[in-house]
Amino acid sequence: PNIALGDMLIQTAAKHPAKEALFFFGKRISYKELLAAAQRMAAGLQAAGAAKGDRVAIMLPNCPQAVVSYFGALLAGAVVVMTNPLYVERELEHQLRDSGAAVIVTLDVLYPRLARVRGESPEAGPVPGLRRVIVTSIQDGLPFPKNLLYPIKQRRAGPQPLIPYGKDGVTRYASFMAKASKLPAHVETAPETDVAQLQYTGGTTGTAKGVMLTHRSLIANAVQCEAWFYRMREGKERFLAALPLFHVFGLTVIMNLSVLKASSIVLLPRFEIENVLKAIRDEKPTVFPGAPTMYVALLNHPDAKKYDLSSVKACISGSAPLPLEVQTRFEAVTGGRLIEGYGLTEAAPVTHANPLWTKRKIGTIGLPLPGTLAKVVDPATGEELPAGGVGELLVKGPQVMKGYWNRPEATAEALRDGWLHTGDLASVDADGFFTIVDRIKDIIIAGGFNIYPREVEEVLYEHPAVREAAVIGVKDEYRGETVKAFVVLRKDVTVSAMQLDRWCRERLAVFKVPHLYEFRDELPMSMIGKVLRRKLQEDEELAAA
Ligand code: ATP
Repeated sequence: PNIALGDMLIQTAAKHPAKEALFFFGKRISYKELLAAAQRMAAGLQAAGAAKGDRVAIMLPNCPQAVVSYFGALLAGAVVVMTNPLYVERELEHQLRDSGAAVIVTLDVLYPRLARVRGESPEAGPVPGLRRVIVTSIQDGLPFPKNLLYPIKQRRAGPQPLIPYGKDGVTRYASFMAKASKLPAHVETAPETDVAQLQYTGGTTGTAKGVMLTHRSLIANAVQCEAWFYRMREGKERFLAALPLFHVFGLTVIMNLSVLKASSIVLLPRFEIENVLKAIRDEKPTVFPGAPTMYVALLNHPDAKKYDLSSVKACISGSAPLPLEVQTRFEAVTGGRLIEGYGLTEAAPVTHANPLWTKRKIGTIGLPLPGTLAKVVDPATGEELPAGGVGELLVKGPQVMKGYWNRPEATAEALRDGWLHTGDLASVDADGFFTIVDRIKDIIIAGGFNIYPREVEEVLYEHPAVREAAVIGVKDEYRGETVKAFVVLRKDVTVSAMQLDRWCRERLAVFKVPHLYEFRDELPMSMIGKVLRRKLQEDEELAAA
């Protein structure tokens, strides 16, 4: 439907007022209640001076206030900036400055970090445009179980931070809502062109850029996912929100899709395996979108077998490759289907997926979603490659971004003739199924040979002693670059670099075999469980300097 996201919620609430929209640790919030809260938030923002197009940042873990604030900001005509609650000062400052956010909604335990970014006198500090800070907390009557607060470490570290309510534009969420009128003024929205959200890229490969997603892109992607993934029953499905909603994968595939289909969301503030298992047992979700690391963690939990997980019917894994073994074991444990898809922030995010109920191909990212065109081109010439050829993946469709916020050059490079250049290397087979080979930026060129880190990592993963592996290119005087592997071993086993070397030599052409090994206790991971090769690269550069 070509409507605004706020209207999507209004329509669902009108049709299914009593239906539970959110489940949060025993608390149930109906669509009628969710809409009423979002309308109050919108009215409050308008009263505080938020005009159409103003940016409103939301820095919250999964909780009812996050959903209320999202739709509230949109109903006020604002542009939402979903901010990762794990961001440190440097990242937070970048995002607030770059987006020019005027308002932020956050949690009390996160306030000290925000205060450090604002500085002693917020009006003259690094983010002078940030006029209002709305702080929510346990006292707002929403039952945050103590042990689930974000981030736990800070909470244990000392007493509650002193928050200067009433000063520097800082307001309590509860009083902000109580003072607001019931209904906001209606704001005219052009779904095709009005930006609903600036979604910052994961930053796996560089500086985070703000991706402009229109109302239409976001709704289109929810509709495409619905058409493709599920035999979804309106008003009947229940989504498990273990993925963060501030990441575009959870945002579209859980929050927006659920609202579109009048389904319910079981909100989990952080990925904690015990709570995931309990939530499945108690709330019986039917859909569980996740990242591969989540399914791995669940399968490896010693108590997983004690829980009845059979309510789960459909799982979509995205954001990183899904190992075959994980897929098979997970399906055996739940009796549901787990399929792999693919996407990127710039496409709101999903562009490909394996069919959930019909023919799928393990190890591929599946077929383009309905209404999505995809092709593989030679990165040098731009010419489309025949089946089997490896080149850059290009996609086109209604879900593709409008551009990067304030970055015309980066936009011109990423979007050419309406085609989004994904920066990923892929191939397509004769049946139209796509396979991701690797990220173009991560390709290692050693002595003139192209090496795909993922291929080397897969060989390492097959070694019985290896729990995790990541491969990068490091500077080398003779070969330009050489292959370095970072390895995390399984508990209670040892293996030497020499043994791994022998393992790789038997399975890879000699030019792909790592020259250097480093054993670590863990690998740097992004919020949704992607290994950060860039961080390893930085460590390497620091060590060299
Ligand atoms: P940045 O764009 O800032 O470097 P990022 O690429 O991690 O960060 P996202 O938009 O969250 O930001 O991730 C998209 C990328 O994730 C894709 O370009 C692709 O490299 C990877 N990806 C997503 N799904 C899969 C998949 N199923 N298999 C392999 N890689 C995937």
